[in-house]
Amino acid sequence: MLLLHRSLFFLFLFLLPLPLHGSAAGDICIVGSGISGSSTAFFLANYTSDLATALSGGRLRVFERRAKVGGRLATVTIAGDQFEAGGSIIHPRNLHVRCFADLLGLAVKTGGDDDWLGIWDGERFVFQTLRPLPPGSSRLRRKLHALLNSLRLLKRYGLSLLKMDRFVQDMLQRFMLFYNGLESRPVFDTVEEMLKWSGLYDLTRRTLQEELVDAGLNSQTVLELVTVITRINYGQSTSISGLAGAVSLAGSESGLWAVKGGNWQLAAGLLKAANATLHLQEGIDSVETTVVATPLDEVDITFSPPISIPPRKMQHTHTTFVRGLLNPEFFGLSSVLDIPELIGTMELPDIPFSSISVLKKYSEEDMTYKVFSRVKLDDSLLDQIFSTRKETIRINWPAYPHYEAPEVFAPIILDGKQLYYVNTFESAASAMETSAVAAENVARLVIARLPLPPRDGAGAGAWLSSAGDDDQRADL
Ligand SMILES: Cc1cc2nc3c(=O)[nH]c(=O)nc-3n(C[C@H](O)[C@H](O)[C@H](O)COP(=O)(O)OP(=O)(O)OC[C@H]3O[C@@H](n4cnc5c(N)ncnc54)[C@H](O)[C@@H]3O)c2cc1C
Repeated sequence: MLLLHRSLFFLFLFLLPLPLHGSAAGDICIVGSGISGSSTAFFLANYTSDLATALSGGRLRVFERRAKVGGRLATVTIAGDQFEAGGSIIHPRNLHVRCFADLLGLAVKTGGDDDWLGIWDGERFVFQTLRPLPPGSSRLRRKLHALLNSLRLLKRYGLSLLKMDRFVQDMLQRFMLFYNGLESRPVFDTVEEMLKWSGLYDLTRRTLQEELVDAGLNSQTVLELVTVITRINYGQSTSISGLAGAVSLAGSESGLWAVKGGNWQLAAGLLKAANATLHLQEGIDSVETTVVATPLDEVDITFSPPISIPPRKMQHTHTTFVRGLLNPEFFGLSSVLDIPELIGTMELPDIPFSSISVLKKYSEEDMTYKVFSRVKLDDSLLDQIFSTRKETIRINWPAYPHYEAPEVFAPIILDGKQLYYVNTFESAASAMETSAVAAENVARLVIARLPLPPRDGAGAGAWLSSAGDDDQRADL
């Protein structure tokens, strides 16, 4: 029986899982409609032969406590423009998400690769890349500009740049094993097994700082460039685990993209493609097979019988959108035109924010900015950082785990029976793609353990090879 309650804030789940090899008949319920829940639904439908019949009248149901799907994929609207408030950039080698976008026919946009970055130490910009060229500059000028920027970075950070790149490429190469065909890729019962199989486990045992020192990076690169990136992407220092750190560094590479109109459309489209029954603003009391697709660290869910998972803290990222103008005096400058468009910060106690980036320039006096910080920025502080503020929107995200090496992972199968936890994988690294990889494995576990009839032959998994080429992507 399935009892439904409408509740936005407090949800208590009393989960009565089926026996290990129970009948496949009945509902499969997924808690959470973010990219983890929606991709679990998608893979369940995609890898099963006729899911509706296999569930003998049961349904694939997705429960979402909020009024909208997407979870940490969400947009805010300022001056009629939509901006990503949560997960915003996608790496070109994130094959699942790339395939989702292609399959769903979503238009994508790519970012410029020549951000005007300034590294702020609380008193001055210790390093800056070149100011961007005016729009409409020739291809040759743009190439020359990119070359000069590379030389500038090379001059300051030397061979450490190449060593950092090698570190990231090595991680990516191992991560790509998760796209191997199903016949050569086991279904994993634990995150540890997943990571050991791909050769990524050791990276979760030590800090990024330790890994990079071993990789031969000099301390200036770690203190400045690497720190700036980890603070932007995970709101944390280089004491995060090596794997989360490598994923974070990959997020500074070129070719990053996003879904035009908002990445949340991935979740909405996948749920539709899976033909899932969506229950918005609903919690559940009693379910059969359940997939938990939300971090359990801050939600009010009670399990019966109780389950035990290792404690994990979520790192809160306060995302503050400001329409207005930065105050040059705050940065010791005389003109706002001298403030870099992406301000990254070093790990120093008196710096109140992790980063500030220009999202849109309406004029030289009117821009929209996104500020990341670890704590709420109150009005008086914002009034020091900004000389004018027309609009301010604040979001306090329980954004990603607070990474601590060596990482400890909650089980994927929470009760040893039919209760699955996708977001245990976030302790390895939190991103849209890692969510999809974890969701795919959970879907395969459910199919194997219920059991459900798998789709014939190469059908399951082959969809990855049908992904469009890079050049099919419009640069919008
Ligand atoms: C500020 C920020 C920036 C980020 N930047 C990037 C980036 O650039 N690139 C990238 O790849 N990733 C990024 N991430 C990480 C990425 O957004 C997440 O890893 C990913 O979206 C997590 O998806 P999820 O489905 O696992 O969880 P969520 O998106 O959190 O979804 C969980 C859902 O479950 C719902 N829920 C919770 N409890 C219940 C309940 N009891 N019943 C029903 N529903 C429930 C929630 O309302 C939510 O909708 C960023 C995250 C943040 C916050």
